[in-house]
Amino acid sequence: MRAEEGSGRMDVVIVGAGPTGLTLACALTAHGVAVRVVDRATGPSHTSRANILHARGVEVLARVGAVDGLREQALAPIGMKMHAHGRVLATMRFAPDPSESVQALFVSQAAIESALRCRLSRLGVEVEWDTPVTAAEQDAGGVTVTLGFDTSVRADWLVGCDGAHSTVRDLAGIGFPGVPVVERFLLADVHADWNRDRSTSASWFHPDGLLLAMPMRGAEGSPEDLWRLMADVPADDEHLDPGQIVARFERLLPERAGQDHVRIRDAVWTSVFRVQRRLADDYRSGRILLAGDAAHIHSPIGGQGMNTGIGDAENLAWKLALVVHGRASEALLDTYTAERRPLAVEVLRSTTMNTRILVGTGPVARFLRDRVFVPLLNQPGVQRRATRTASQLWATYRAGPLGGRGRAPRPGDRIPDRPCTRHDGTPTRLHAELNPLWVLLAPRGHDTDLEATDAVARKHLGADVIALHAHTALDRILLVRPDGHLAWRGRDPADLQRSLSRVLLGQRK
Ligand SMILES: Cc1cc2nc3c(=O)[nH]c(=O)nc-3n(C[C@H](O)[C@H](O)[C@H](O)COP(=O)(O)OP(=O)(O)OC[C@H]3O[C@@H](n4cnc5c(N)ncnc54)[C@H](O)[C@@H]3O)c2cc1C
Repeated sequence: MRAEEGSGRMDVVIVGAGPTGLTLACALTAHGVAVRVVDRATGPSHTSRANILHARGVEVLARVGAVDGLREQALAPIGMKMHAHGRVLATMRFAPDPSESVQALFVSQAAIESALRCRLSRLGVEVEWDTPVTAAEQDAGGVTVTLGFDTSVRADWLVGCDGAHSTVRDLAGIGFPGVPVVERFLLADVHADWNRDRSTSASWFHPDGLLLAMPMRGAEGSPEDLWRLMADVPADDEHLDPGQIVARFERLLPERAGQDHVRIRDAVWTSVFRVQRRLADDYRSGRILLAGDAAHIHSPIGGQGMNTGIGDAENLAWKLALVVHGRASEALLDTYTAERRPLAVEVLRSTTMNTRILVGTGPVARFLRDRVFVPLLNQPGVQRRATRTASQLWATYRAGPLGGRGRAPRPGDRIPDRPCTRHDGTPTRLHAELNPLWVLLAPRGHDTDLEATDAVARKHLGADVIALHAHTALDRILLVRPDGHLAWRGRDPADLQRSLSRVLLGQRK
């Protein structure tokens, strides 16, 4: 750990112990960075906004060591039956990519946060609850962060993972422009007597709006009767309390879905929210950075928010660690915005489009939805594409500042997991070794090249490098970043030297 013991000064203060802040804290701590994680809530949340973690998020959690136990808590993969005019228009199924070793997990956000907190605790860091950040001032040497009213802490870096209404974003003066997409959604997680198949979710398209029902897993040992209900309703000024929200769903179930025999017993969580699409103008202002919902918000349809935030955290962690350890210049942090913001633009675009199609306001939009778009989801090829899009396994940074040209895989591309062998001959997998480590992946029989490139990589990256032999054919040595993307591809150690000098220190030669 770098920050001096007892000085009270931290390398990084992370604001927010949601999935983004916790992932960042785990990854930074594993990289040897001293962090404090503060959250204004009085304790962990037991209710969940997200219920699906798509494949890329699962991959990141595995790399930060927080996936154990989650698979046991997950529901079996569920598809969605889509209804309109009293019949099923399509049954959308998740079609996992057989070439990938990682699949989505249907598990609650509360369970994911709990797994991350356990991992962080094992790394020696506890979340400080009831600790709101109220002010922050940065200067050339660091950031002074005010916790509550009268306590302050000095840190080299401050990262706002404090959600959609981010205080840190406001304190940094970073704009968050955007527009509303749906004026009002009602949500209720309810225990209900409902004689309905729990192996699929369901949606009903009705001229008055959309109704969604998704099976959820309740507390351990409780009956399998927990459902998430969601519906878009016209915006009005009426304030709805939890009882009124449940009463609305009791009306909407027969009206929109023809479901007359549902008896809602109680609600675990209710919410009324407006769906907005907003994106931070920048993810960095000097020593202050943003990640997760603090940087981007969009429709929950498609389950992309937590996935994107967790991906931000992993991308930022290794870069911030190199800067903190004095191995890279601060300019490396600008590549964080340059790589992650375009991905968020794409996520905002696709989630907005899908939400507009599903909510379908106006007769033409509804006609296209019911006759064209939704029936297409019956087709296996479309299902495979939709699953791939949601997975975020497609993410590449090849067009960004650390990207490269030439044959695939190009610098910036994600390198899928694969079996490998360590120097001593023991078997392992690429992704099991990554984060905090970088991996040099070499074809068999290239030991001399590997030794020379290993020496160059260690000179720049320190001890966090491991050399592995690939089982599959490779024509070049690959240097894989801790977040699973390709940093460099080649054979010539001098070329690696130039590449790392450029990436880490901004040197051209
Ligand atoms: C209905 C719904 C369903 C969703 N379903 C999915 C899904 O299936 N899959 C998916 O990937 N995403 C989903 N999302 C989105 C997902 O919930 C969010 O993207 C995710 O919670 C963002 O995580 P975060 O850590 O960035 O922020 P948050 O989870 O919002 O965490 C922010 C934390 O910061 C703390 N905080 C705020 N201000 C301060 C302050 N000043 N000082 C200290 N602490 C502070 C808060 O207490 C909170 O703990 C859904 C969202 C909704 C609304």
